[in-house]
Amino acid sequence: MRFTRRVFHDLAIWMVVLGLGIGVVFPFFVERLGVPASIAFTPAFVTACLVAGALAGGLNYALARLIVGQRLRALASGMRRVEGTLGAMTTQIETARMTPDTFRIDVDSEDEIGDSARAFNRLVDALAVATQTQFAARSFAEMLTSELAIDGLARNALEQLLEHTGATAGAIVYDADGQLEVAAAQGIRDANGLVSSEPVREVMRSGRTRFAGIPRDVQVDAVVVDFRPRVVAVLPISHKGVPVGAVVLAAEQDFEADHRTRLELFLHGLGLALNNALAHDRLQTLAALDPLTGAYNRRFGLLRLHEEFGRAVRASTPLGVVMLDVDHFKAVNDTHGHVVGDRVLRSIAALTRSALREGDVLMRYGGEEFLAVLPAASSDDVRGVGERIRRLVEDSAVMEGEVAVRVTVSVGGVAYPNRSVEHEEGLVELADGALYRAKESGRNRVEIAR
Ligand code: GH3
Ligand code: MG
Ligand code: MG
Repeated sequence: MRFTRRVFHDLAIWMVVLGLGIGVVFPFFVERLGVPASIAFTPAFVTACLVAGALAGGLNYALARLIVGQRLRALASGMRRVEGTLGAMTTQIETARMTPDTFRIDVDSEDEIGDSARAFNRLVDALAVATQTQFAARSFAEMLTSELAIDGLARNALEQLLEHTGATAGAIVYDADGQLEVAAAQGIRDANGLVSSEPVREVMRSGRTRFAGIPRDVQVDAVVVDFRPRVVAVLPISHKGVPVGAVVLAAEQDFEADHRTRLELFLHGLGLALNNALAHDRLQTLAALDPLTGAYNRRFGLLRLHEEFGRAVRASTPLGVVMLDVDHFKAVNDTHGHVVGDRVLRSIAALTRSALREGDVLMRYGGEEFLAVLPAASSDDVRGVGERIRRLVEDSAVMEGEVAVRVTVSVGGVAYPNRSVEHEEGLVELADGALYRAKESGRNRVEIAR
């Protein structure tokens, strides 16, 4: 039964009424115990009983308010703090964090009051997990859109996967046109071994996640991470149901349920992003390469020359440029046809490539002209490389049936800073001039700009 709109006020009324009731009954009670009616029913004694009853009721109310009220206030204040934090998170998600420890309230009662406190704490924990997942998903999604290159994408994704799933070591592999490649690895000693690991290949084939004990071919680096993992998860990174890569994660303990949920959430976005990165990579390659010879095309090759020239100037290191042109190539086309001419060009590109070091840049500069950029190569190195290319071409032949088609090349070279130039175009001009002199002085020769 309610008297007011406040529970504690109702309680106060009930307690005072009860106290007064006891005050009313008390004189009859004491009379029964043998106290003479002349005492038990005097106005003074009755009044004293009523006052004592009312006081007891009031005191009860005060105690209830103190003991129960304090806990209810703690609960309400906890709720207000949660509300404030949730509000802040919707507007400034980067800084507001739901850390359950700072929101939990004390449970010191084994009754409805304690149950409420426990329920509140469970709610805080659930909210913390939900908001952490939301936060993680959001920062993961932001990361995915900020990187288009495979390596950068994989590195960032792996970092976040480790951070948000409790795994300690991991790697991301992807399918590079039928061949598995490691895009990023952290804490795994023999990451390259993963591409031939049967569990990884199996996941790439089936598209199904594997949570398993440690495969023997995954070595976890005890130097980088000082632990022996209990579980290794291999998860497919799929796009439209087709695995485009896989994530390998090693953890010290089993993945918790919310970590697994988070993983699924992450992998969905990662599939799309990795697919985009792979497509981008293929386009980049297509845009950069000459389709006939596989060398860089002129546009990309000259960009690379620009980069290398800048680096050489900054680091005060030499930079060599070699230009070569096939001798009397028109005659090859005229005699054997364009198809054979094309094969000769391909062969010259391959021979030239074989004479270069890793890190050197080879581009098809024109129809039957190639330009090679040799970082850190001196004048002597340039002459050496030019001579090697010249000899390789002279000694080789492209077969047209029984007929050996042989060509020679003329080579012009130059090295910075033996010849000082302002821009990389200066180097190309000097190499071109040297090539012209090689042609003039009889072809199948190497000339270096001095
Ligand atoms: P030189 O010794 O003075 O360099 O004589 P050359 O005949 O090589 O010189 P020229 O520049 O007159 O001829 C180059 C020829 O290369 C003409 C062109 O048809 C041919 N060529 C250019 N690009 C290609 C190509 O992609 N495939 C084929 N088969 N021939 C090409
Ligand atoms: Mg030519
Ligand atoms: Mg030419």
